[in-house]
Amino acid sequence: MSASGGAGGSAVNTGPGVFLACVFGTLRGMAKCGTCEQEFDLSDARQEFATTEYGDETDYDRHFDGELCGECAISQANSWFNAGSAILMMNGDMDYDADHVEKYL
Ligand SMILES: [Zn+2]
Repeated sequence: MSASGGAGGSAVNTGPGVFLACVFGTLRGMAKCGTCEQEFDLSDARQEFATTEYGDETDYDRHFDGELCGECAISQANSWFNAGSAILMMNGDMDYDADHVEKYL
């Protein structure tokens, strides 16, 4: 009773979460954070990131793609944001704050 021909593995859902769930096999929706090495739930991480001013769930996928847990993704976004602000200050596009520049550049 084996199927022959036709597309194997039908009903393929798209989306990074599903993709990663396949890659990680039994760890459905779970991934390991590249920073703190904690296992985390991808959908939780997305939702956590989506509560910040840095972006929504698609931004989480775009930037971190399941590599960082929500907490680490947010702190990474924070440091990008702070470094970005420091650069804007250096360029004179933002009010200059010497403390900020020294801290984040
Ligand atoms: Zn983490």
